[in-house]
Amino acid sequence: MKVLLHEMSWPEAKEYFAKNDIVIIPVGANEQHGPANPLGTDHLIAKSIAEETAKRTGVLCLQVIPFGVSSHHKQFWGTIFISPEAFKEYVRETCFSLNYYGVRKIVVVNGHGGNLAALADLARELREDGVFMSVFQWWPAAAKLLPDLFTGGERRHAGAEETSVNLALHSNLVDMSKAVDTELHGHAVQAEGVTLPLSTVDETSSGVYGKQSTASAEKGRKVFEAIVDELVRHVNLLKKAKLDDLMQKPKV
Ligand SMILES: [Zn+2]
Repeated sequence: MKVLLHEMSWPEAKEYFAKNDIVIIPVGANEQHGPANPLGTDHLIAKSIAEETAKRTGVLCLQVIPFGVSSHHKQFWGTIFISPEAFKEYVRETCFSLNYYGVRKIVVVNGHGGNLAALADLARELREDGVFMSVFQWWPAAAKLLPDLFTGGERRHAGAEETSVNLALHSNLVDMSKAVDTELHGHAVQAEGVTLPLSTVDETSSGVYGKQSTASAEKGRKVFEAIVDELVRHVNLLKKAKLDDLMQKPKV
């Protein structure tokens, strides 16, 4: 059975949507991940997680949306930066297309933390329109499921954890001879409780946050298995959930 929308013909898509009201959409970013990792890290990982989950659950998966909210990385070459507004509208119209064919449940597999605020806003708005969208992010799931596999300093942007997943999924795109461990610069005006409008380049000269050199494909495979298992569990729960239990509650 096909599970990738772009591989189906329209009669095959019609057959799927006649019987199912759930889909998976991977979204990511094209942004720097230090000298060792490919720019596509966030969307390549999201695509792999989403497609593997689709295979294991029989739920339809869309093409990955590769560009996200990344202006905080733009000083590093090759980063594509979409505004939160444009990103949110693009995902919304993708969801509306699906809703036209009867989709009411959407699982977004988000590979880039910078997209989360726009996606969370959108999910609340879609619920008003009768579409229930959940957002899965692999790294907080991995930190809960495999707390001892990496230290906190290895779990940040382009760190050993993310690099390990790249090594597990597409090692040909990673050059570990360029791996770096980077101490973050603090900012002169930083104090407790203060949020500053800083970009990545203000905090790290390599683009890597923390420790990257301890990455390995073996650790990456452990992460991938654990997060796909967890996402499969969520998708199966959502498949079975009644729409009434997902939609907005009436006034009390
Ligand atoms: Zn990333």
